[in-house]
Amino acid sequence: MEPNFIKKISYLLYCYLEGSASEKDRQYFHLYTRIKKCALCSSLVQSRNTVVTGQGPVPCEVMVIGEGPGYHEDRQGIPFVGPAGHLLSKMLASINLDRKNVYITNIIKCRPPQNRDPQDDEIKNCLPFLEEQIDLISPKIILTLGKFAIQTLIHSRQGITHLRGKEYTYHTVPVIPTFHPAALLRNDSLKKETWQDLQMFGKKYQALSTGYTFIKKRTK
Ligand code: SF4
Repeated sequence: MEPNFIKKISYLLYCYLEGSASEKDRQYFHLYTRIKKCALCSSLVQSRNTVVTGQGPVPCEVMVIGEGPGYHEDRQGIPFVGPAGHLLSKMLASINLDRKNVYITNIIKCRPPQNRDPQDDEIKNCLPFLEEQIDLISPKIILTLGKFAIQTLIHSRQGITHLRGKEYTYHTVPVIPTFHPAALLRNDSLKKETWQDLQMFGKKYQALSTGYTFIKKRTK
């Protein structure tokens, strides 16, 4: 289990046993343990090393939702820790956001074999967990990465190239999609549009949050 989560869950367990945990802490603890024990997707259960639940404060104003764990995430049990994760941290920093202050998770919580795309039944199996996470995290705004995250949240089959550059809502929460950092690592030409999406996201978030100042700065 990943070190940050060991600390968090140990703390929540302590509070729970002491009777001092908030209702939200209790709900998160229950959700976390249910996700960790889940074995609904038989092929993923065989190939996964661990279940990657999510990382970040609960509740949290900003939520980032990707596709599914990759090799590094599956090894460490933390979302977005490999090269794509490093790039995500830079993307967030480019709009003045520290990833420590963002809750990050994926559409599916277990790594598909050979990093294949998540299948419809796997997304369907895992969606109730994501819905509960969004409910508990109570974000003011959501950034989605790649086509599966936005398709799932808005029930669309359109590609990310068509869906990006616009704002959507998930149960009244604004959702802004952009490309997955892994796609950016493969295709440099997507950077300009991603930068535009991040600008849109930063401006929208500034309009929603009194504690956030959008600073336009370019990072390579
Ligand atoms: S992907 Fe989600 S639903 Fe499928 S086994 Fe993992 S936690 Fe369970």
